[in-house]
Amino acid sequence: MKNETKNKPVLDEDGDVVEEIKVCSRCSEIPMIWTFAFNGSEWWCPKCGKNEGMMGAGENIPITQELYNLGEALSKELKSTDGYLHAKGIQVCVATIWKGEKIDPADLPDKEKERLEKIVNEWEYNKSFKLKNGKLIIY
Ligand SMILES: [Zn+2]
Repeated sequence: MKNETKNKPVLDEDGDVVEEIKVCSRCSEIPMIWTFAFNGSEWWCPKCGKNEGMMGAGENIPITQELYNLGEALSKELKSTDGYLHAKGIQVCVATIWKGEKIDPADLPDKEKERLEKIVNEWEYNKSFKLKNGKLIIY
């Protein structure tokens, strides 16, 4: 479906026009995050935790620059080494890279396992998200 608005088109990082964005069918205006961080979850809602597979996940709605920016900021923040998706993904994966070597996450140093556990345990659902001057605010 073409988005015929007077607004400037929304461009992705490659400069391609983006017309739709996938949002959570429970939370509406919350962009879903593309992830393989959890077993069986390609799409994940950072607000309610809904996990969905590749096909038929969420709802595709006409994109706005605001929604695009929020989705990009959420994805970047939650996939960073201090982010929830990164930490949870390491905990459930078969192997991870530590100091250049492929190891079982169970063989990580205790200090790193505790750091990951703290990030995961401190994550709370049902938060709200907004961008203020380009910075993601979780409240
Ligand atoms: Zn949701």
